[in-house]
Amino acid sequence: MLSNIQKQIKKATRNSNINSNLLKVLSKPENEIKINFPVKINGSMEIFSGYRVQHNNYLGPFKGGLRYHPSVSLDEVNALSQWMTYKCALQDIPFGGAKGGIKIDTNNYKEQDIEKITRGFTKALYPYIGSNKDIPAPDVNTNSKIMDWMTDEYNNISGNFNLTSNMRSVFTGKSIDFGGSYVREEATGRGVALIIREWSLKNNYNLKGKNYIVQGFGNVGYYTCELLNSYGMNLIAVGDHSGYIQSNEGFNIFNLKDYVDKNKTINGYKHGKKINKETFFKIDCDIIIPCAIELQITKDNASSINCDLIVEAANGPIDYDAEQILENNNIKIIPDILANSGGVLVSYYEWLQNKRDEYWSEKYIRDRFDEKICETFIKIYNLSIKNKCSLRDASYNYALEKLQNNFIRKFSF
Ligand code: GLU
Repeated sequence: MLSNIQKQIKKATRNSNINSNLLKVLSKPENEIKINFPVKINGSMEIFSGYRVQHNNYLGPFKGGLRYHPSVSLDEVNALSQWMTYKCALQDIPFGGAKGGIKIDTNNYKEQDIEKITRGFTKALYPYIGSNKDIPAPDVNTNSKIMDWMTDEYNNISGNFNLTSNMRSVFTGKSIDFGGSYVREEATGRGVALIIREWSLKNNYNLKGKNYIVQGFGNVGYYTCELLNSYGMNLIAVGDHSGYIQSNEGFNIFNLKDYVDKNKTINGYKHGKKINKETFFKIDCDIIIPCAIELQITKDNASSINCDLIVEAANGPIDYDAEQILENNNIKIIPDILANSGGVLVSYYEWLQNKRDEYWSEKYIRDRFDEKICETFIKIYNLSIKNKCSLRDASYNYALEKLQNNFIRKFSF
């Protein structure tokens, strides 16, 4: 995955004046932290491996999610932390980039075990994080409950009697009662859908009646579908870790969500026919939205993809070679660092509210969010027209230029 980023950046900057020393600095993260920590599960000790990679903090404290997944490795979080640096720069928020997680299959543990593991991980992370240092958030298989446990544990360790505003602002993506923010839960999916709408307006592309398919029906997948369906679009295939289902007349996303809330998977849902991953990516549709994990569209399946637009709600779902094939086939791409930056944008609002001991209304946040997401899309879209380049190239160039201005200040001697 790291080589994917290096290739993307090399292509994006081939005609720009981004300082090669900056690119050299950004090719490596500032800190790579690996922690093996013990937790007693059912009376016996298990050792878990947790990671935090702090990529860059020129623009502000390190910021990014923590994921719980069997594929978590230093290499993976390394790449993901780099994307966080660009995501924050793109949204003009004063944060740097980080990412972390635990290598774990959460399906094998009960909720009370997950709480213990989370608290153990927080203890191990304690010296490295802080509200002006590094601010974790939810990511794949982590949620507000996990952020609340982390906040509570962090507060216990720090010896504070009360949960002060300074403590609350160490983690974002918390539940509302614990100092979380309205709109944070839906933010990533909402941002994805709003960006699709802005793209459609710029391209005279009527979304009403268009068919789309989604890989991943968790938090990001569901909220994306909710807004897209309100635009009159039709979800005709969906997949998760258990498999894929297709329905030509379209799924009722609310019934599907109820089913997934109860069963934790789409497996066994009574509508649609079962298909495999290969068939899923061959479906003739208008928009494909990968909302799961990395490297799902590769040179092996890219040529059979049949759509107008792919929106990277997940991080890094398209590999570099696949992208060249898709571009040749005139399939447009909205890149991850632009498409899914809504999550960290509301994390920033949450952090600001915690720091200032303020509680903003849902309407205020939603209006502010919608305006900023659309403004960011239009700024990148216009740059791509001006530079005659892809949205990915324009996104990287915007972010890198911003980092460059800080880099020059730092290294002007
Ligand atoms: N995990 C999300 C992301 O990758 C959100 C990060 C955050 O809110 O800090 O963008």
